[in-house]
Amino acid sequence: MPSELTPQSDLQEYPSGFRAGYIAVVGRPNVGKSTLINRIIGQKVSIVSEKPQTTRSRLLGIYSTPQAQLIFIDTPGIHKPIHSLGEAMVKAATSSLKDADLAAFLVDASVPPTDEDALAAQAVKTHAKNIPTILVLNKIDLVSGSKLQEMEALYRELHQFDHIVPVSALNGDNLDTLVSTIISRLPDSPPFYPPDQITDQPERAIAAELIREQVLMHTYQEVPHAVAVVVDEYKQRSEDMTYILATIYVEKDSQKGIIIGAGGRMLKAIGQAARLELEALAGTRVYLDLRVKVRKDWRKKHPKLGLMTYT
Ligand code: GDP
Ligand code: MG
Repeated sequence: MPSELTPQSDLQEYPSGFRAGYIAVVGRPNVGKSTLINRIIGQKVSIVSEKPQTTRSRLLGIYSTPQAQLIFIDTPGIHKPIHSLGEAMVKAATSSLKDADLAAFLVDASVPPTDEDALAAQAVKTHAKNIPTILVLNKIDLVSGSKLQEMEALYRELHQFDHIVPVSALNGDNLDTLVSTIISRLPDSPPFYPPDQITDQPERAIAAELIREQVLMHTYQEVPHAVAVVVDEYKQRSEDMTYILATIYVEKDSQKGIIIGAGGRMLKAIGQAARLELEALAGTRVYLDLRVKVRKDWRKKHPKLGLMTYT
């Protein structure tokens, strides 16, 4: 439990025997950490991508049941220019493990362990000495039974895990077992957050991430990680209408051209897809105003833009 946080026992009545705690979700990029957290929470709080390095800041996903509160710490993505991939991943895992009551080590069970899996496991070995560890074998929808046993044996060798749970974060298979295994190892504690809160991220930050996700999906391979999104305005204008003004920042005129597309078609498609996601977030219809601006070399000159996705 992070020391600056104390349980908010005055939040409301909670049953005796209530359990609550922080779960560090660690693993190399692309194993499905964000997908898992979103799936358990039942709403998108973390962005998912086929390309690694999409989760930018440390993010809490909160799942409450009548008996327990599970606070998932999603680990941030990697800034290659600053650190080597492995180094950055280990740093991220390490920082989330420091605050955790439990470690969920996620792997892609459809492929054998990679060097990065081994590195991440090393971080667990070093920093999760005093907390329970769960090996989560994800993507079982891609593996046959006998192959899964083979993979399990390989992943078991990485660390002496306390529990092993095979799941599919994508289709939800066996996530109930994972949740009950987690709860069984959480400390007795009052909840830290109100039961209806699903993340510590402000709506604007999630909105920016959802828009950025659509930009990445629509411009696959064409625009590198040179995209930052800032939500300039987020206002519920009436009972059933939220107005959102956002700016997509890129580094080059050519990237701006790609995002706008011929006759503005690309930007329109991005906007339409993002609007659907934003409506689910806001719970109202959304009027989305998107702008595209070039800020030359923002990653070098304004590195914070990539971290601060909202103003
Ligand atoms: P992260 O980098 O660990 O956060 O991984 P993401 O959650 O962004 O997922 C990476 C990719 O794996 C995405 O394309 C997901 O759709 C995919 N994925 C995640 N979980 C599963 C799963 O259980 N089965 C399959 N088939 N794909 C998955
Ligand atoms: Mg992620």
